[in-house]
Amino acid sequence: MSDEMRPCLRQQALIAEVQRHLVRLAQLARAEAELVGGPSDAWLAVDKEIELEIGEKERSMGALRQHREEHGC
Ligand SMILES: [Zn+2]
Repeated sequence: MSDEMRPCLRQQALIAEVQRHLVRLAQLARAEAELVGGPSDAWLAVDKEIELEIGEKERSMGALRQHREEHGC
């Protein structure tokens, strides 16, 4: 396997991080869908978590984009 073919381990880790946030967002969205319409403190708490999680997902995607640009992988 040439160097070009070898998967970049750092990129793999960054991709896994993005995927972890996306899966978490899907879980939170499903939870909010169940809760919305019920007591508002319950679904507003989940809604706040979604906002925070979106921020973390954006940061992890930014880190992935930046790594790919800088590393050329
Ligand atoms: Zn890389």
